Amino acid sequence: MLGEGIIKGLAETAKNFFGSYVSKERLTTVQYPEERIAPIEATRDFPFLVYDGDDWEAGLRCTSCQICEKECPPKCIYIEKSKDKKPDFTGRPQFYPARFDIDISVCMSCQICVEVCPFESIKMDTEFELATTDRFGGLLLDRKQLAKSNAHYHKIHPTEATLVDAHLAEEKAKADAKTKATADAAKAKAAAAAAAGEGA
Ligand code: SF4
Ligand code: SF4
Repeated sequence: MLGEGIIKGLAETAKNFFGSYVSKERLTTVQYPEERIAPIEATRDFPFLVYDGDDWEAGLRCTSCQICEKECPPKCIYIEKSKDKKPDFTGRPQFYPARFDIDISVCMSCQICVEVCPFESIKMDTEFELATTDRFGGLLLDRKQLAKSNAHYHKIHPTEATLVDAHLAEEKAKADAKTKATADAAKAKAAAAAAAGEGA
């Protein structure tokens, strides 16, 4: 029949249009802010800095390498490296950021900072209720405001955070094995030197 396809298409459109008024699971909007839809795991808005343990400052994974600062397309990351060092997750002394600010009014949520970070230190958050009347100070987040626990990371991106934990555990095991091998070699060398001394 002539026009059958058009009629079928219109019928389908009408079914979906009116159906969305009566079928809750087909509604694409909710009565925000009274009602909220939980963000899906791939949701991302602005970056945060991951810390391990209970102390945000001591536990920051960031080593202040400044790669993210250099690679950020709109240049909205500002880092100042510390003068001293603190142990990283493997116990190795590392610099840390004395200052780490992100201007989220400029950030375009591209995630490049996350992709280039070699230390799993910066990840994308899902927090979006950040409106403020202070256009400048209110949107320039410092390291304390950016610091969020690994537990938070697991809550918002469980699959990704589990893979990151496994990767860090593997790196730590490698670092521990290397430290042990170096200590064993030094001990063997000292024992050989002592034996040679006794033989002379
Ligand atoms: S998400 Fe993109 S724009 Fe935002 S801080 Fe990271 S690199 Fe910069
Ligand atoms: S967040 Fe990552 S890439 Fe950026 S300075 Fe810290 S360790 Fe380096």
